[in-house]
Amino acid sequence: MERRKILLSEDEIPRQWYNVLADIKMNPPLGPDGQPISPDMLAPVFPMNIIEQEVSQQRWIDIPEEVLNIYAIWRPTPLIRATGLEKALGTPARIYYKYEGTSPPGSHKPNTAVPQAYYNKVFGIKRLTTETGAGQWGSALAFACSQFGLECKVYMVRISFDQKPYRKTMMQTWGASCIPSPSTETQAGRDILAKFPDTPGSLGIAISEAVEAAVSDTSGNTRYALGSVLNHVMLHQTIIGLEARKQLEKIGEYPDAIIGCAGGGSNFAGLAFPFVLDKFNGKKVDIHPVEPAACPSLTQGPFAYDHGDTAGYTPLMAMHSLGHTFVPPPMHAGGLRYHGMAPTVSQLVVEGLLDPKAYGQMATFEAGLLAARTEGIIPAPETNHALAAVVDLARQAREEGKAKVILFNWSGHGLIDLGSYEKYLSGQIKDFDFPAQDIEDAKKILAEYPKPQIIRSR
Ligand SMILES: *Cc1c(COP(=O)(O)O)cnc(C)c1O
Repeated sequence: MERRKILLSEDEIPRQWYNVLADIKMNPPLGPDGQPISPDMLAPVFPMNIIEQEVSQQRWIDIPEEVLNIYAIWRPTPLIRATGLEKALGTPARIYYKYEGTSPPGSHKPNTAVPQAYYNKVFGIKRLTTETGAGQWGSALAFACSQFGLECKVYMVRISFDQKPYRKTMMQTWGASCIPSPSTETQAGRDILAKFPDTPGSLGIAISEAVEAAVSDTSGNTRYALGSVLNHVMLHQTIIGLEARKQLEKIGEYPDAIIGCAGGGSNFAGLAFPFVLDKFNGKKVDIHPVEPAACPSLTQGPFAYDHGDTAGYTPLMAMHSLGHTFVPPPMHAGGLRYHGMAPTVSQLVVEGLLDPKAYGQMATFEAGLLAARTEGIIPAPETNHALAAVVDLARQAREEGKAKVILFNWSGHGLIDLGSYEKYLSGQIKDFDFPAQDIEDAKKILAEYPKPQIIRSR
């Protein structure tokens, strides 16, 4: 029997997360006055223990025992050799994927939902609010809150609320409440609805609503949780890459290329950052974040200061951004419909350590279908973006006759996304025209903000 799955035992779960902030220099987040914000300004939004983690420069951070105990429900996740896909592509490349679809909600997102719920609980918080795109993050936070006995309220982007009703049911099953965004419950929601009554919604709008709902609870018992973009989220996700590195070590492999789809950047960063650390230490490896061609923040957006949300409630962050008023086309990979990118991922792109790529929706579904028919697992539409890049690289390896080692993150399964597959199979999926004018319009706003410095960390 050929070796297919490389497993770790529960005893081998990493005990620390890797914090990339120890190894790079960053432009600081800015407040409304254009000055760097102080950590306590974030106190109405996040608990102080998470804020401390957000700004920590410590390279290795201990994973609390209580978090490890919940991780152990599905972690360590398997590393799987994609021999079926290799055969179908006739490639000499050896392709491995880290399969994050084994978590209860079916994606990588509980890797951070669980510690975020834990730190809020320890801080005495009773209730969390959040946004969700495709519903993956909302369901992950609902699951995590149920583990720690916290209340959870989720603002779900309307287009996904309509396209993916079962995600809402998952959230409710775990005891959370879920409403479509924009809603009439918040000022941010009402403002958008007044201007655009038929808007499909966006992650940026839903973030505004969830932040507003948290900070306007005068009891002080509510905080907000974000599923991507921020430093502490990237930190928690590094469990993926740290496990993958151990698994590859066991079989004497090291990747030539690492690939992950990138919406806010967290599953990509989770797999890639531990290998970025190796790259700092002299290893050679190509690392590719992959985004939708219709929402191309890394490949088309300038590196600029911008807000993380549509209403402009969040501090200005230095990142690749299409402008916070940009509402991406209603593509099926709802988790990738975000105007910005994690500041840490953006900084690494600025420094030339990452090589981003973009694919249209059709190419991603083609790759996803090939993967489903050869590997058996039906991928999330977001994961299909990583797969499109994997397929390209594997074909290139065939042409060059090179036995490259490719590692990618299979960020989630697509079993709650079958509506998208149904549309693809019946010929109803198309590539969106590149929203050039919308992006040009949205980018104009960036000219009003300070310009980040181009920093080289080493
Ligand atoms: C949310 C999600 C993504 C995109 O979010 P990132 O923060 O960029 O990882 C990718 N894949 C799946 C399955 C998701 O649920």
